[in-house]
This record gives sequence, structure tokens and C-alpha cells, in this order.
Amino acid sequence: MKALVFQGPGSRQWEDVPEPTLEAPTDIIIRVDASTICGSDLHILKGDVPAVKPGTILGHEAVGTVTEVGEAVTTVAVGDRVLASCITSCGRCEQCKAARYGLCTGGGGWILGHLIDGVQAEYARIPFADTSVYKVPPALTDEQVLFLADILPTSFEVGVLNGHVKPGDTVAIVGAGPVGLAAVLTASLFTPSRIIVIDLDSTRLARAIECGASGAIELTGEAARDRVLELTDGIGVDVAIEAVGIPETFELCADIVRSGGHVANVGVHGKPATLHLERLWIKGVTITTGLVDTFSTPRLMSLVSTGKLDPLVFVTHRFALEQAEEAYDAFSAAAETGAFKVVLEGAKHQQLVPVGAAAGLEGDAS
Ligand code: NAD
Ligand code: ZN
Repeated sequence: MKALVFQGPGSRQWEDVPEPTLEAPTDIIIRVDASTICGSDLHILKGDVPAVKPGTILGHEAVGTVTEVGEAVTTVAVGDRVLASCITSCGRCEQCKAARYGLCTGGGGWILGHLIDGVQAEYARIPFADTSVYKVPPALTDEQVLFLADILPTSFEVGVLNGHVKPGDTVAIVGAGPVGLAAVLTASLFTPSRIIVIDLDSTRLARAIECGASGAIELTGEAARDRVLELTDGIGVDVAIEAVGIPETFELCADIVRSGGHVANVGVHGKPATLHLERLWIKGVTITTGLVDTFSTPRLMSLVSTGKLDPLVFVTHRFALEQAEEAYDAFSAAAETGAFKVVLEGAKHQQLVPVGAAAGLEGDAS
């Protein structure tokens, strides 16, 4: 089969690789019907994630059709359509028992496209299938479900829930990328009175306004801080969600949160940020950090099913899976291409006959 293989910093290629096989009785194999590219994949390509070894297939977000199941798998069967999420859960360790799947110590956590082969491939092996994949309701298309693999649960759990967004709150979201925009959508579920989005990219800010943000600030640093304080009568915001991942934007969040408020950090940071305890010690501020756990995925899928969340707002580009290299080029040059989220469509969506067709896997119209 073909897959997008990481070949060391700066290099990846769509190439021939062996098909995945069941390695444990709890594994399944899926035919990948849709996948997408994440900012973390670009971090890997830059060499920021040394745990990813050359030769690893990239990708941790997919919707696929089950083609093989291990003998211990009881809840999914060949032919089922499933969401393969960025987080895999062994379901048995102490962290999994507390629904902290991102911190799984039993071999799960973020492993796909990181510690084991990922899903930007024609087929993929998914470990711990019973506790890691989600069956897709027939009425939902692959694209409607795809962003439940990462950005929607990430923004909801690590941003909105950790930030304790409540009805009537004023929420600031710093960063209007896919994670920031997903935070606009999922914070809106709690009817805050205002969502102010801060970014330096006017196209992304316009998209955030279209998706329900009430204000956009195209500034950063002290100028952004002053503007937020002006808009909140000098008080600051109830919740500041950091969705960029640089010291400046974390420090901005700490500067604009009101006394007693919450700073929810979502961004992945590569450098230390300054914590101004000389200002914060008296403010009673709660600061949270974390990796997504994906405990909210079934609930978010229900919201998509009932039309309360529309993940299609993320999609700007679609490519065939075998055009993965072009898709990476478009995604990594977002400023020029306007790419936000790109969908990689598997053979099913191109009316081709995939290898699994003989097993009767072409059953749905999505
Ligand atoms: P992205 O790079 O697409 O978006 C970041 C946005 O920040 C861009 O729109 C950019 O214009 C804006 N930005 C850059 N510098 C800025 C500044 N100084 N002030 C204001 N805005 C600025 O990233 P994304 O895919 O939306 O992800 C956001 C962050 O979330 C990343 O750090 C990503 O690694 C992280 N993430 C965390 C988790 C988790 O579990 N904690 C999961 C997924 C992603
Ligand atoms: Zn991701």
C-alpha cells in the first residue's frame, strides 16, 4: 500500500510500505476513508518532536472502515465505519480509569503518527480498538466526523472545560487557527456573553467572526492587552484561552484575565514563558494546562448529529489521499493558500475500487 512516511526533519514522501497487520488481539485494521493534517504534523516535520523516528507513517486523525479485527475485539466488526482519534486508550491503567486517556500508561495516549505508524495511509492499525475508536452514525459523513479526532475535543476539554466557561462570561481566545476556531464553536455551547478573538491574521479573524465570535482584535502583546482591558472596563476577561503556543500569547492571557478568572493553556510550547507572580499572586487566578483526553468525543459527536456543531466550517481544501504531499505543501503555506483544514480523501470518495471492496465494505454513501 501507499502511505505518507516521515523521513527525518524536513522530509516526507508518499511511498510504498507494507500493509499493516494485527499485532495484538486488541488491534483492528482500518481502510482510511478520510484523514487530515494537524499543526503537530508540521512540528514533527520541523524536527520538534524527536520521539518520531524516520520511517514512521504520519497522521493521527482519520475516519475509516474496519477491514480486520483482532480476536479480543468485541465492539467493532469488519465493515463498521469508525473514527480513529489522536488519543488511544488501553482502558485498563489508572489514568484511563480516571478518563485521562491522553496520559494512558498502558501503551496508549498520543501514539498514532508519533510512536507508531499513523493514519495518512491507505490502511492503518489501530491498537486497543474497543476503548479507542468511535462508531460513526450512518447519517454523518466522514468529513463531519473527522475533526472530532483532535481539534474539537482539544479545544473543548483543554480550553473551554478547563477554563470553566459559563453562561454570560466574557471569553478571550488568543489564536484563531483551527484550535482557536474550534474553541469559538465549543465555547458558544455555554452561551458566553462575548467571545473576543485575538490573532494577527485578518482572514482567520474574519472566519472566527463568521463562526460566532463577537469581537476580533488584530493586535498582539501590550497593544492587544490594552484593547481587551478597554473593552472590559479595565476588568479583564473571565476566561482566556491560549491557542497559539508561544510565550508572548501565554503572557497576554495572564495579563487580560480578571481577578478570580481562568487561563486555559492549549498551545504546545517549545520555550519557557514568564509567569508574573508579582502581579498574579493576589488575583486568585486559575491556570490550567493539558493534553486532550478525548473523553468528550461521544458528546461532541451527538452535537454534530443534531446540527448544534458544524465541523464543515474548518474545511478549505480537499485532496485525494495520494496527493498527500501536495496537501502538506498547501497546509504549510497557509498564509499564501488560505488553507485552514485540508481533507485527504481515501479511495472510497474517488469511486475507485479499494482492496477491501471484496469484503463488502462499500455500504454507505458518505
Ligand atoms: P495554528 O498554528 O494553525 O494557529 C495558531 C494561530 O496563532 C495562527 O492563526 C496565528 O496567526 C496565530 N498567532 C501566531 N502568533 C500570534 C501572536 N503573537 N498573537 C496572536 N496570534 C498569533 O495552530 P492550531 O492548529 O490552531 O493549534 C494551536 C495550538 O494548539 C498549537 O500550539 C498546537 O500545537 C496546540 N495543540 C494542543 C493540543 C493539546 O492537547 N494541548 C492538541 C492539539 C493542538
Ligand atoms: Zn493533532
